Formats: sequence, C-alpha cells, structure tokens
Amino acid sequence: MELLMIKPVFKEAIWGGKKLREVFHYTIPSDKTGECWAISGHPNGEGSIDGGSFDGMKLGTLWKDRPELFGHYPGNQFPLLVKIIDAQQDLSIQVHPDDAYASVHEHGSLGKTECWYVLDCEPGTEIVIGHHARDKAEMEAMIRSQSWDKFIRKVPVKKGDFFQIDPGCLHAIKGGTLILETQQSSDITYRVYDYDRLSDGKPRPLHVEQSIATINAPFVSCQGEIVKEELCGAVHTHLITCPYYSVDKYEIHGEWETEFASYFTNVSVLEGEGTVDGVPVKKGCHFILPHRYGNCKFRGELSIICSSPEKA
Ligand code: ZN
Repeated sequence: MELLMIKPVFKEAIWGGKKLREVFHYTIPSDKTGECWAISGHPNGEGSIDGGSFDGMKLGTLWKDRPELFGHYPGNQFPLLVKIIDAQQDLSIQVHPDDAYASVHEHGSLGKTECWYVLDCEPGTEIVIGHHARDKAEMEAMIRSQSWDKFIRKVPVKKGDFFQIDPGCLHAIKGGTLILETQQSSDITYRVYDYDRLSDGKPRPLHVEQSIATINAPFVSCQGEIVKEELCGAVHTHLITCPYYSVDKYEIHGEWETEFASYFTNVSVLEGEGTVDGVPVKKGCHFILPHRYGNCKFRGELSIICSSPEKA
C-alpha cells in the first residue's frame, strides 16, 4: 500500500489572486488564480497521481480501474473535492442545490454541500452566511428588488474558523480570505448577485430563478459542534461530520501514529514539513491514503486537514 500523491489543477477567476504562489509556492497560471483543485476527480479539473505505481494516471481513471483502493465506495465518480481558494476579491453571492434538485435540473449531477476552513484572512474580513429574510416570500421579494444590504447576512472571520455550508444556504467568500474547502464533487453554483461586475466586458450569468427555488428561508445555521482533543503527538480537532464527509484537523508535533478507518482518507498539508511512513511531505502537498492502508506514522511539525466520505 502506498500514498497516492496528487498533482493539483489551478483555475483562474476574476476574483483570484497570487497567494497560491506566495503562500503555497505553487506554479500558477496568472496573478488572478482563484482555485487550486487539490484533490479532484471532477472532469472540470481532474487531478492526477504524482509518482509511485500509478504515476500520471487521472484520479477518475484510478477510481474506475482500481475500486479496491477506495474500499469499493459506491458511485461512478470520486465523491469529494478538496480545494484551496484565494479570494483576493469577493466571490459572487451564491447557493448550491441538493442532490434531489441537481439530479432533476442538472443532468444527474450531484448537489453540493461544502465546508470552509479559514487558512488566513486580512484583518476585518467578513464572509456571507445566510440572509435576513423571514420566509420564502420575503426572500424572493428581497432578491427581486435587489435589496442586497437588507438581505445578506455577514459575519466576521478569523484564521482557524470553520463553516459548514449545506445546500440552500446563501453564502459568499469575501476578498482577503484564503480557505481550504472540502465539498461534494460537484460544480453546480447558482449565482444570485455578482456585485454588477464585468468579466471580459460582460456580466457573468446569474441564476435568479434557480436561486429562489433552492435558497432555504428563514436561514438556519448548519454549524456542528467542534471538538478538540489532545492525542499522543498531535492535537485533533473534529470539524464536522455530515451525510457526505467528515473533516478533521491534526496538528502534529514530533511523532503521531494512527490508522484511518474510512473507505479512504484525503490529506492536505497546511503547514510545516515532515514524513509520512518515510515519504517526505510539506506544506501544499495533498495525498490520499487508500482503503486499508493500515497504520500510518507521521513525523515532523505538520498541520493537516483530513477528509473522508461518509457511508453511502
Ligand atoms: Zn459555494
């Protein structure tokens, strides 16, 4: 059993910046790079295996050819998508559909539940989570009259914050934020409002009707309880378990051993460097521990985020 090191894919965006190069030392396509698709089997930006027995193979191909590596997790696509997002400017105010809506209206696509771990942000930064409408009718009225100041709910953010975004939850990452996102492998976004910005001289498309159909009203927080525990060699923070994934953070000091029990485990190194069973890893590395990898020994000073799919 070997680690599956993943080679990420980068995406430019009108709101992107250059922190993926400055902070993570990635080679990025331009100074307007918004996203690193770090662990992705999605056809819109598919990562490949970097080194080892499967060197160069696309993750989606490995998923189909070697299902035992993923514990025969059901489904014809790699279910999760891990991204790092550099929002130099505000992202559009948006919402994602659930599986039921997406399968009917988006050609059988998965819906999108996502969560954010704030890697860094500038002082005074806010994000958008939810809205202030009391019910569906008021939500629709506020959107149609473009009463954005009254409608949109903003909250302050700081480094280390965590947010769960269920389908139907209005949200936006605001400028000055660097985030690690774990989500269902879906690329369906309904844009409600884009600050009247132009991209290549034109406004980006809005999806007002789909947004009104999918935004939950009134807003109810979907945050779970965050639990921190001291382990031998690591501090463990359990961030979320939802129907699609579990996400955990580990701050490793010295040596920490564990056995991950899930179908498979995605690992992203956020800080530091060290080794995993002798394989050198450092900040910006992303890899998958395949099914039944067994005991795993981390050495060094490392901060990592792990995610695994929940039972299908
Ligand atoms: Zn989103």
